[in-house]
Amino acid sequence: MSRARIVVIEDEPAIRRGVVDALRVSGYEATEAADGIRGLEEAIRQGIDLVLLDLLLPKRDGLEVLRELRRIRPTLPVIVLTARGSEDDRVRGLRLGADDYVIKPFSARELLARIEAVLRRSVDRPLKVRGARLGDAVIDCGRREVRSPKGGRVELSETEIGILSFLAENHRRAVSRAELLTRLWGFGATGNETRTIDMHITRLRAKLKNVAGASAGEAIVTVRARGYMAGPALVPETDQDEGLE
Ligand code: CA
Repeated sequence: MSRARIVVIEDEPAIRRGVVDALRVSGYEATEAADGIRGLEEAIRQGIDLVLLDLLLPKRDGLEVLRELRRIRPTLPVIVLTARGSEDDRVRGLRLGADDYVIKPFSARELLARIEAVLRRSVDRPLKVRGARLGDAVIDCGRREVRSPKGGRVELSETEIGILSFLAENHRRAVSRAELLTRLWGFGATGNETRTIDMHITRLRAKLKNVAGASAGEAIVTVRARGYMAGPALVPETDQDEGLE
């Protein structure tokens, strides 16, 4: 298993520093943010496995960050860092979908135990994929093409390969249109643009069908009210050693 990547969103420099150090010493990759806006940007980057979120933050409140995170990455594990006595925040945090909380002041040991437990039960850990198989056909992310052993071949656009690899990386869960938009066009893409995703998916399905035939029907599944998900026929190929995303 590759090292988990954790974002620490905390405005108190001493706490942030301490947490980041403890994480790195324990073998995690850690990035940090001192306010809510920056924190959200870091948290929705591809490859992030868990977020540690302080609630009282400058620029954008922690609960707001959590609400937004839940919209974009519904199953990304979040542990809330909360001050002693502020039970309201804790309850609101859990209600907004935080996976756990830790009360300040906390020991590195306690925090690490919580992180481990949350990661263990998380299904959200993305794979690092270099491509996928679809029936007999091969989806090659590097070359942006789908090849069939029978000689068929189709080129995919950057957007199409982006969608496919994102679904393959997250093949155990449904991915919302908002999340796909954010992944493809960055933070801030919203609303009406979700139809654009549907159009790309339609085109992508047609292309896959040309090369992969019947298996293509099970490549991308529409999940009602959730978005899209890699179907049973789309088998990710990982290459952990090369650290590709
Ligand atoms: Ca704070």
